[in-house]
Formats: sequence, C-alpha cells, structure tokens
Amino acid sequence: MPYLLRKLFIGKKDKITFMELGNHIIIGGAEWCALPGLNIPAVKARVDSGAKTSALHASNIQKINRKGEKWVSFEVHPIQESRRITIRCEAKVIDQRIVKSSSGIAEKRYVIQSAMKIGSHQWNIELTLANRDSMGFRMLLGREAMENRVLVDPANSFLLGDYAEGKINELYQHVKDVRSGLRIGLLASNPLLYSNQRIMKAGEERGHEMVFLNVQQCYMKLDATHPEIRYRGGKSLTNLDAIVPRIKPNLTFYSLALIRQFEALGIFCANSWEAISKSRDKLYSSQLFSQNGIHIPITGFAKSPLDTTDLINMVNGAPLVIKLLEGTQGKGVVLAENAKAAESVINAFKSLQANILVQEFIKEAEGRDIRCFVIDGKVVASIQREAAKGEFRANLHQGGKASLIKITKDEKKLAVKAAKVLGLQIAGVDIIRSNRGPLVLEVNSSPGLEGIEQATGKDIAGMMISAIEKQLGWQSDLVIRTSDKKIT
Ligand code: ADP
Repeated sequence: MPYLLRKLFIGKKDKITFMELGNHIIIGGAEWCALPGLNIPAVKARVDSGAKTSALHASNIQKINRKGEKWVSFEVHPIQESRRITIRCEAKVIDQRIVKSSSGIAEKRYVIQSAMKIGSHQWNIELTLANRDSMGFRMLLGREAMENRVLVDPANSFLLGDYAEGKINELYQHVKDVRSGLRIGLLASNPLLYSNQRIMKAGEERGHEMVFLNVQQCYMKLDATHPEIRYRGGKSLTNLDAIVPRIKPNLTFYSLALIRQFEALGIFCANSWEAISKSRDKLYSSQLFSQNGIHIPITGFAKSPLDTTDLINMVNGAPLVIKLLEGTQGKGVVLAENAKAAESVINAFKSLQANILVQEFIKEAEGRDIRCFVIDGKVVASIQREAAKGEFRANLHQGGKASLIKITKDEKKLAVKAAKVLGLQIAGVDIIRSNRGPLVLEVNSSPGLEGIEQATGKDIAGMMISAIEKQLGWQSDLVIRTSDKKIT
C-alpha cells in the first residue's frame, strides 16, 4: 500500500476525519471558502498550486490613509458570474507585488491579509487584490496559503462541502435587494457577435434587464402627443432606461432615426444620434478635426476630375491613400504607389460617382495603427494593430495582428479630444504614428470589443455598462460595508 494511503487509513482508525491526513486536510481543485475578516461568508475558490500567492478579484480599489497606515478599500462580487451582490471591504495593505496574471500580463497589486475559513479550519492568509475583472472564480488559493496545511486532490471538487443556491442566498440574506436593475436595450443587428454577447452579459451580471433589439424590427410612431417606439409583435419600448446603439454601416440611416426617437422619448442613448452621424461621415468628421486643432493626415476632397493632378500635389504627391467615404474595415482603402496610378484610381472612382478622400500616405507607420477605446473622456484600453505581411494597412479582419501597447500622454489626449469633438461617449479612436506626431485616422462609434478585450484582458463591456449606470445615477444598493455588520 502506498505510504500516503497507509497513513490515511491509520488516521481513520485514530478517529481523525476521513479527509485529514496527518495534520493536512485534503481539498479538491475548487472549494468554498469564507473570509470572515472581510465579511465574505462564501466564495468559491480555485485551488491553484501553480500560483504562489492567493488572489481575490476586486473592483474599485482605492488607497486610503488610516491614521498614517496604508489601507485599501475595494469591492468584491463574491458570487461567480454575477454582480448581484457587492461587498465593500477595507483592509490594511501589507505589501505591493508585481504579479503575472494567467493571461501573462504583469501588474502591481496590493497584498492584504485575512482570516480564511475552509471547512471547519481557519487560518490567516495573504491575498493579492486582482483588479482585472474575471467573471470566473473570484478567489484563487495559491501555494503559500496551503503550505503545511493542505493536500490537493485535483480530480475532485468541494470535498469540504458544496452549497446549493438556496444556502448561498441564506448566507447573503443580510445583503438586501432593495433596488432593481436598469432596463437596457442593445440596439444592434446580430445577437451572436462577440461584442453584442459581451454587452448583454455584462449588463446581466450587474443586475440589469438586458433586451436585444434588432434595429430592423423596431418601428415608430411620430405623433405630437404620443410618440412611440414598438418592437416586432407590438411590444412598446418606451419603458427602457437606456439604449446601447451598435449600428451596422448599411443601417445607419434607419438606426439614426430610431435613436433620435429614443432620445425624444427621454431614453438615454450611450452615443447620441448626432455624434454617431458625425462619426459616420468621414469627410465631416475630418473637417471637425481640422477645425478643432486635431491633427490628421493631410486630406483632399474634390468632385470634379479636372483638377486631379493638383489634388494629388495638395496632399504632397504619391504614394497616397484613396478612401471611399462609405468604406469600413479597410475595405474602401487603396494605396496608390505613384502619381499615375493615383490619378487613374481617383478618376475611375469619380466616374463611378463614388465619394472619395485623397490622403497623404504615412509610410513611417509601417502598416501599424493604434486603436484607443474611449469611454466618458478616458482611454480605458489601447492596442496596436499591425498589417498582415505584404499589406500596407492595419486590419485585423484581413490577417493583421493585435498587440498591447503603452500609448503616450499626447496620444491619450488626442484620442480623448477626437471623441469629444464628435460628442461620442463611447468611441474607438484610430491613431497613426507619423514623423510629425500622432494623427487621428478615424473615430468609430460602435467599436468592436473582441480584439481589444482579448489583447488587454480588460472588461470593456462592463465599463460601458458602468458608464451608463453613472450617467443615470444608478447605484447598486446591494453593497454592505464591513463595518456595518459582522459575519461570523
Ligand atoms: P476603415 O474605416 O475602412 O478601417 P481606415 O481609414 O481606418 O479605414 O484605414 C484602414 C487602415 O489603413 C488603417 O488602420 C491604417 O493602417 C491604414 N491607413 C489608413 N490611412 C492611412 C494613411 N493615410 N497612411 C498610412 N496608412 C493608412
């Protein structure tokens, strides 16, 4: 019989519980823990002997000074995949450490100490506060906390007991549901798109009622006394609190009319119709940028083919970029290598009555650009996009690459200003690095979430919902403070 098993059996004979081996308790790959010091009666922890320090997912982490001591206040959503319950905690900072998250991104984290209860055992552990929003396990139990106390049986889970939903509600019954969530409509076209799924989920997790509204299934009544918007089958949409518009370019006209109607009904739209309409018109937005001191690549626009040669000279000659005003995702962007090619492409587009911009080619960018995600006047995330080999333009849809990038203060300022000039609360601002500094290429009012969330590991959908909550003055009242009530 293997040594460990032999010891286990001896332990049993000596009336030590089955799950104990010598002085060690045996736990599974996941267990329910309690953190009495933080007033958290139950949190599911992933047991991860690959990690040195334990971690707790926290949000709104703020440094505080307590009689000269460094403390932190933070919020924990202890229930997995839900923000139904928020516990506000305060703890003394015992250290700050650089920790590499599972996605390989290093960050500086606060370290706190708390009592941890697991089964009937309790001891003090150290926890880093991970501010990266993970909707999975809210706690990670690392090696240090388990040393000389625990043996892990990774093939099993909840060896020290599992809680049913009812028990969790009982444990958290002191956290009263005194306020219901918002009713938020996601006005889009395809519910299966990553971005749309993330926004729906982020809203639901925060306790809001999310409704997916297909743009084409909404219809409206224009009436001086009883204006209305209804949905397929006749359901009225006038009782929504907010709309998140995610508008496909080919539905811009109809969608803008719908957003105008929502706004007229007093429903808050996370991006107004006016701001979206400005951002959809590349020529108008470029004019607004240049009028407001926002640098863009030198751009020309003309109707008649008679002055094409001078138009080319005006933007500093070839090579130059020709852009269809209606193009998106790089589909209407052409690089003309020399003046002759430029002239024939420009004249060909004109003969087809297409509206085009002619733009100086920023060669030194080497096919890279930067996407800055702006929410409420702040760059919340940024990535660099790189062209696929042999391409001149950054385009993730055509085999390009996304990577993390630290942007400069000037680039941040530029991105925030560009979104502000168009009046966008939520914007994807594309910036290109030129020899004369950063230039704005384009501002998108329905920026995609997939590339940027995956590259940065940030919960951008959640930030979009938080921005709506803030705008509407909505606060989760499911918050208890550690000092309000003690859980034992
Ligand atoms: P779309 O809206 O179709 O995505 P963009 O104007 O954003 O069109 O251009 C697509 C890509 O082409 C950009 O991400 C950038 O990499 C490249 N690009 C666009 N304009 C220029 C330019 N003036 N100089 C160099 N590269 C450019």
